[in-house]
Amino acid sequence: MSGKPPLRLASNAVIPGSDRPEVPGVRCEKGHFNHPKVTNCLRCGRPIPFGAPPSNGPRPSVGTLLADDGSVWGLARGCLIGTEPATAAEVQSGAAQAISMRSGANHSMGPVHAEVQIRGWSAFVVDRGAEGGTWLQGPGSQGWDKLGRNEQRELANGSHVSCGGRVLTYLSAWPT
Ligand SMILES: [Zn+2]
Repeated sequence: MSGKPPLRLASNAVIPGSDRPEVPGVRCEKGHFNHPKVTNCLRCGRPIPFGAPPSNGPRPSVGTLLADDGSVWGLARGCLIGTEPATAAEVQSGAAQAISMRSGANHSMGPVHAEVQIRGWSAFVVDRGAEGGTWLQGPGSQGWDKLGRNEQRELANGSHVSCGGRVLTYLSAWPT
């Protein structure tokens, strides 16, 4: 293990200009890198050999966000959602992508209202303290839960996030 850097910081650390963070996964016989729980390669469909040794690789997109206006964002990186997310430091550095949205009727949307962070193979919604708050509806749930200020929650496949009167749905690309 002498070749490993002694201080590998959190796997979500995204250094501007660096490659995507590495995560543990498995490879198909063609070498495509997949979530460790898949049985077939998501890219080519080949079965993952049983007992394939786990290895680290650059993290593929963990899924997509679908907005209520039909727009779609791939989640290779996290996102900032608001009326003016492009000016935020995380977007300027390239660590996050900007999802610029106007509020729905009778709601207010902050310049950076909510955030989606990617850690490992998982996506998390984070409230950014804007007026009106950030809301989450889990898959199969009928109600909305309001996040506490700056609270974060993991997104399950099919979760809906609401902020500023708008709704985004998280679809995982991988088994969760
Ligand atoms: Zn493959």
